[in-house]
Amino acid sequence: MIGRICTRNFSSKAGKKVGFMGLGNMGFSMMRNCMSHGYEITAYDVDNKVMEKAEELGAKIAPDVKAAATDQDFCLTMLPNTDIVEQTRLGSNGIFENAREGSYIIDSSTISPIASRKMAEEGEKLGFKIADAPVSGGVTGAAAGTLTFMVGCKKDYYEEIEVFLKSMGSNIFHCGAPGTGQTSKICNNLMLAIEMIAVSEGIALGEKLGIDPAVLSKICSTSTSSCWSLNSYNPRPGILEGVPSSNNYEGGFGVSLVKKDLSIVLDSAAEVNLDLQFGTKAIEFYHELERQGKGKKDFGVVYQYIKSLEKK
Ligand code: NAD
Repeated sequence: MIGRICTRNFSSKAGKKVGFMGLGNMGFSMMRNCMSHGYEITAYDVDNKVMEKAEELGAKIAPDVKAAATDQDFCLTMLPNTDIVEQTRLGSNGIFENAREGSYIIDSSTISPIASRKMAEEGEKLGFKIADAPVSGGVTGAAAGTLTFMVGCKKDYYEEIEVFLKSMGSNIFHCGAPGTGQTSKICNNLMLAIEMIAVSEGIALGEKLGIDPAVLSKICSTSTSSCWSLNSYNPRPGILEGVPSSNNYEGGFGVSLVKKDLSIVLDSAAEVNLDLQFGTKAIEFYHELERQGKGKKDFGVVYQYIKSLEKK
């Protein structure tokens, strides 16, 4: 980690101030990486336990959004959904009421591209530099500082945003105007949500037919079914170390968050009159897991559900 930080040149950015809101499975690690690159963090989350952990790490703690947003160079949100991001930005005592004119207001949560574009229009009118910058790479990428960021913002200030985001990620893409980052992200997550189901079906079938799932996974990882859900995030416990499936599906990408993303996908598809049949089927799996009380478990738990299904 130290080697990685030292090889990058971020010294000119040291001392810049960041209001970081949302310190969950992703946000906490992102905040830590941001801090290691010399940014001064003021952190806010509704959960006091994560606030205590952030304070132990050296972050300043804010009692509310107002305190987190006031007098920052960057305000970054990493929150669960569209409503909460809207409330945090537009609500009374929110970011738009309190941030410094000319500051960067960046959202890395996965939310509706349409809502994201509207908020950008509103924020730009108030003199802020707004970007949607959702991420891919999961909790492992957040911890390692190797996230992919998909940025939607005006060209004029992409460069400075890129330098900031490099403290948390290794692949930063400018997708186009505000909202296009979220569009890239929901298309990625549509593919991912279906891919995880496909990998789970393949491994469940192989296991039931008697092949060692570790052997099958190794073979498939160099075959045409090779993909992230299989190679880097295998949903079958005991195949990969350090992934949620080997930790009772704790601490990863929650089922409810995947379901939320698929809802955004299907709403966006409806806007452009597109019938996404696999996406429509995939949301049923995650809906069922949520119904079973597994909304907070990592989405790889879909493997356990698929393994339990019997043909009627
Ligand atoms: P999480 O549920 O672990 O964390 C969300 C955090 O936001 C929690 O700490 C919660 O207490 C806090 N929060 C909720 N309401 C708040 C409010 N009003 N003000 C301040 N803090 C508030 O979620 P996560 O897994 O960290 O994901 C965050 C976002 O990133 C989501 O939009 C998700 O879809 C997206 N995402 C997640 C992953 C993943 O693998 N977990 C990957 C890519 C993108």
